[in-house]
Amino acid sequence: MRLFPHGLTSRLALTYMLLVLLSVGGLIVWAGLQLQTATFEQQERNLEIQAQLIANALRNEFGDDADKIQVAALRSALQTYAQESGLYASDELARVTLVDDKLRVLASSDSRVTEGVEHNHTEFAAARAGYEQNEIRWDEFANQERVFVAAALRGEHDVDAFVQLSMSTAPINTMVRQMWLGLASVGGIILALTALVSVMLARSIARPVQRLTATSEAIAQGHLEQRVTPEGPDEIERLGRAFNQMTERLSELLMREKEFAGNAAHELRSPLTGLRLRLELLQDTARTNPTVTQNYLAQMEHEVAHLQRVVEQMLALAALEQGKLAPRANFDPAPLLYDLADDISPLVQTAQVEFQVQVPEHLPLIHANAEQVRMAVRNVLENAFKYTPPHGVVILRANALPDFVEIVISDTGVGIPPEALPHIFDRFYRVDTARRNLVRGSGLGLALTRLMVQANAGQIAVTSAQGQGSVFMIQLPRSRA
Ligand code: ADP
Repeated sequence: MRLFPHGLTSRLALTYMLLVLLSVGGLIVWAGLQLQTATFEQQERNLEIQAQLIANALRNEFGDDADKIQVAALRSALQTYAQESGLYASDELARVTLVDDKLRVLASSDSRVTEGVEHNHTEFAAARAGYEQNEIRWDEFANQERVFVAAALRGEHDVDAFVQLSMSTAPINTMVRQMWLGLASVGGIILALTALVSVMLARSIARPVQRLTATSEAIAQGHLEQRVTPEGPDEIERLGRAFNQMTERLSELLMREKEFAGNAAHELRSPLTGLRLRLELLQDTARTNPTVTQNYLAQMEHEVAHLQRVVEQMLALAALEQGKLAPRANFDPAPLLYDLADDISPLVQTAQVEFQVQVPEHLPLIHANAEQVRMAVRNVLENAFKYTPPHGVVILRANALPDFVEIVISDTGVGIPPEALPHIFDRFYRVDTARRNLVRGSGLGLALTRLMVQANAGQIAVTSAQGQGSVFMIQLPRSRA
């Protein structure tokens, strides 16, 4: 058996209720005790005042000399006082008893009290000493618990007699009992309401959590399309929202992974098929015709080069996507651009296009990784040559802006159709044109370029008009130093 339930709802509800039980219970007990004391004190005080009043009345009526008082007259006077005091207990009048200074009973309003016997009690000692003290004790005449007070009748030098007033504690006890009952029922009502609210509150917290759990379990089993409705307290609602975003991102990632794997396989298959075909042909013809052999070998080298490039691009892409930042430094990009222009001159020859380099001798320092900048610009430049027919123009330009250095690569090539523009930076995306088969590519170049530019806090943008050419703009942040 477990002491505390494991479910969230019952745990929360039980905790709330326990807390309320402890606090409200404690408060009620404390208040009850205070009230109980106050009730007793008030009753006793009342008795004391009455006793004092009776003592005064007695003095007025019978004078100072207690010895001369007629017992019968006294008795009936005491009965009148008892009546006038208005104190009743269980239909019985309060009792007024007069005792002399030796504490012997002179007379009593209650006939059951034996006259002449000595009455030695606390309240008389107190009254003699000049203060008031009551006592609750068992009374053998009435066979019940009573509360007693006494007031002294003082003569010229000393106390002459005492008035003792007493009444049954039953009505006080009843009052106190009723007060406790009242408090208990208020406590009960509070507790019942608390229980209701606790369960409701606990449910409102637990339900969204339970839904979240159920959804997570479903997702764990592969139902990635599942989402939760964000609800409940703020924090849990936020959790729900975050959960949905996370799931969204996860499914996107998984989709992209799948897509990537498919595309990659496809991209690798064609050069591999090309290789295999030529290998087969070589086996048949190699011995007979050396020229053909040379030819095939050259083509195969070309395929292998392409394969190698695609694999390298994939690896570079994977590294960039892992988010590892390459070290950055401050440098002047102008020499890098000149160097790159030199490097690329064989391509210029093959493409038969005019290549203009409009880069100032010096540019402001940029804060970037030089190797990545070089590769990014190189990719875009290579594309310009690839997609510009002979006799076109390719321009590499660079200039300083307030916060950036801008590198612009423009060509007068085939251009990019508007519907393709938003996708050219996607992985494996290639514009579907007649030239596509003429130009060797993987569709990874621009994806890599964008990642590298972004890894250096830069931006890349493109504008293009079909048949007229394209302009690529790369902005890299200037160094702050
Ligand atoms: P690829 O390896 O195919 O060149 P990229 O990612 O570099 O892959 O380019 C994606 C596609 O964008 C290319 O297939 C091409 O269709 C188009 N493209 C890129 N640069 C140019 C350009 N300068 N002129 C026209 N089309 C371009």
